[in-house]
Amino acid sequence: MLSHVEVTARVTVTPAAHFVWSNRLDYRHDCFVCQRVARLVQLQHGMPYGLCTPDEHQAPIRVSAFDTTDHGGERGLRCRITSWWAPFNDLVEPDVQASELAAEPWVQLNYRVGCHVCRDNGVSDWLGIEGFLRSGSAPATSSCPRCRTELVATGGAPEINLA
Ligand SMILES: [Zn+2]
Ligand SMILES: [Zn+2]
Repeated sequence: MLSHVEVTARVTVTPAAHFVWSNRLDYRHDCFVCQRVARLVQLQHGMPYGLCTPDEHQAPIRVSAFDTTDHGGERGLRCRITSWWAPFNDLVEPDVQASELAAEPWVQLNYRVGCHVCRDNGVSDWLGIEGFLRSGSAPATSSCPRCRTELVATGGAPEINLA
């Protein structure tokens, strides 16, 4: 059956930040193909399938919607993950049953941020700072590694819900 999960996240940026959500994310999934629970699957919006690690086999799971929002200093992301799912028991631990949403849902969202202070000072790779927001993340602030200007504040982990 088709299953849908919605992931939402929000960060706050300072006026010095040029912020872009990455269209790549990592997601923990009970994979019907290899019949293992809690596999880490690599997803990219626009790719018709996911790559289930560690052997990177193709899995019927994809990012079916990817919407970013931009309100003042707030940058939001809402993405929908659609997968083919059917009940199974884990191949290695037969007592463990798969579920539509992993027993401990986990996601890592990625972003790239640039520093306008460095840009204005003529630094060529001012756009090259990468960061992530993932399940279990505590609220944090990140600054430019070069000039220490504060750029992004995260309020906490992304939310993951069956849609
Ligand atoms: Zn798999
Ligand atoms: Zn800077």
